[in-house]
Amino acid sequence: MKAAIWSDIISDYRDERDIDEFIDWCAKIGIDLLLPCVNHGTGYTCYRSSVVPMAKVDEGWDPLGLIVRKAHERGMQVHPWVVIASWGSPLLPHLRGVQYSEVGPPPLQSSHPEYFAVDSYGNSSIDAPSMVYSDGGNCYLDVGKEATQGFLVDLIEELVRKYPHIDGVHLDYIRYQRFRNVLKVDTNEAKEFARIIKEGDSLWLMRKWERNPDICETRFFFKVAGKKSEDGKVKELTLEREYDYCFCGDCLKRFQAETGTDIPAGLNTTEEKSCWILSNEKEKWTRWRASNVTTLVREIRRRLKDLNAGLELSAATFSSYPECIETVGQDWISWINDGLLDFVNPMDYMIAPDKLREIVAGYRKGITDEDFRVYPGIITSPGYAIKASEVKAHIDAIREVGANGVTLFAYSLWNSGFRKMKGLEAIGDYDAELVRSIREPK
Ligand SMILES: [Zn+2]
Repeated sequence: MKAAIWSDIISDYRDERDIDEFIDWCAKIGIDLLLPCVNHGTGYTCYRSSVVPMAKVDEGWDPLGLIVRKAHERGMQVHPWVVIASWGSPLLPHLRGVQYSEVGPPPLQSSHPEYFAVDSYGNSSIDAPSMVYSDGGNCYLDVGKEATQGFLVDLIEELVRKYPHIDGVHLDYIRYQRFRNVLKVDTNEAKEFARIIKEGDSLWLMRKWERNPDICETRFFFKVAGKKSEDGKVKELTLEREYDYCFCGDCLKRFQAETGTDIPAGLNTTEEKSCWILSNEKEKWTRWRASNVTTLVREIRRRLKDLNAGLELSAATFSSYPECIETVGQDWISWINDGLLDFVNPMDYMIAPDKLREIVAGYRKGITDEDFRVYPGIITSPGYAIKASEVKAHIDAIREVGANGVTLFAYSLWNSGFRKMKGLEAIGDYDAELVRSIREPK
């Protein structure tokens, strides 16, 4: 293999001609490992499924089937990219001209709300989504729960049965979510508003969707973490929101039973319990949470092997190892060393070549099998635009420290022809430099 690429079936291809262009472009660049996304966190798939509904935009044709057939004719491999934990962003169907009001929230949110993760304040991710976009937010599945894991493994089995010629399955968002938002509010002029708010209060900010006010498109949850007063007047409020999962009743019960931990009896709310765990048993919690994700990877691996021993398993992982074990429960080097993956695509985004060399060398060292395939992922985007003249330095840096190739994130960003077709400004004209770096690296 020379190079891999992530692409998104739901938003990248309108018809067979778009797929032909994609395959031709990959052949020209020397990309021979295709990772097309089949669900992209929307809660919809690009094929007819009995587990998850089909995205409206892909009704009437079979984009994945076409990609598999056409890629194989050109000697390329196809490993469908399956988003695991992120479930329910209306963003992508919306991008293709299908309105949120037409598709609505994914049915899983009403049929199985218990599959969704609960944050440290006790909010279900359905009520307080994270990664808020302009037209909605991502909900997160409780990837540690047995029932959710069963649902996800069945979804993957169905994909393999429908597309028996795929070469493997590529996992993304195979982890928990974690980040923290802080908002400082100047309350000099807030008067009554600031007076009635107390430290420890919960605040919700909501926005109704313009086209359909019955849909609440954005919900922010905040905790009042600080209140600064001067001369009896409230000057500033600090609003905080930590996205940290999963503290549902099931997880709290299992954590105690499986690690021999007793949460003190006087603690009643989820917030009190999560706070106690994070202050008193953080290490145990971190290990237990990561083991939940590892169990899911192992279950997927087992199901794939049962279906077809030749199917490969890979994952898009955080480059910040081992920190990501603590932050998102993703112990991906141990997955590799336990034989659960066949190759890995760490997301080394927005990193300059020198640092990239250091990071790739760092995690490469942790992998015991020297022949294990590593394809670090690099991104170009309007926010981090790699200049065409810098492409080779990025890809050379990766290869110099023992990576087997590169993964480009994503087709819609690296290909100027694609962007032109979509009416978007090209980030760069990378074709010649990609050919020089991938097809003719010397
Ligand atoms: Zn849970």
